Amino acid sequence: MECIFCRIVSGQMPCQKLYEDEDVISFLDIFPAAPGHSLIVPKKHYPNLEQAPPEVLQQLMTVAQKVAAALKSALDNEGFNLLLNNGAVAGQKVHHLHFHILPRRAGDDVNLSFQHYKYGAGEIEQVRDKVVAAVRELPRERLQDDLQALAPDKRLTCAQALALARQHQISSKELGRLLNQEQIKLRNCQLGCF
Ligand code: 5GP
Ligand code: ZN
Repeated sequence: MECIFCRIVSGQMPCQKLYEDEDVISFLDIFPAAPGHSLIVPKKHYPNLEQAPPEVLQQLMTVAQKVAAALKSALDNEGFNLLLNNGAVAGQKVHHLHFHILPRRAGDDVNLSFQHYKYGAGEIEQVRDKVVAAVRELPRERLQDDLQALAPDKRLTCAQALALARQHQISSKELGRLLNQEQIKLRNCQLGCF
């Protein structure tokens, strides 16, 4: 097993563990930027944020909140930075998704500052338009992947469809439209929900 965090999760590598549950582990960073610098790590290997399912992200944030509160009360830090280095270009060195919690104190030596980029004329609106268009496409892409996996025969039960709508946080009406588009038929649908 190559991944260092997978080795920590499986117990092959030691760590200073702070918290563990079924899905998430938290331990002290071995090369900390400040005392108490902690990592919040899903037990399952996801290389980055994009590839982790929403319920894992929810669980990571719940644990981050818990560990941040514990650090604050145990170490008396005044605040903290919650960081994610996502992708090599963003400084990610361990390619197993993890969040950093970096306890902060007034006058500490931590430096996270960056230069401000200056938009050219009209550029900020162009960027907004591109991103808004991409955001609209996102649920559809994820949903299409899930639909293909769940309904290779183009048939879905009503319960599966409702679970998908909940998972992707779209209305059942919107899901109904997508099912139509994908020519997926519902089985056992007595509720008239689509
Ligand atoms: P990244 O740059 O990928 O966001 O951060 C990876 C972090 O993992 C670094 O801050 C590094 O100090 C920490 N780290 C790398 N190897 C180990 C290890 O074997 N044990 C622990 N506890 N932390 C590690
Ligand atoms: Zn891993």
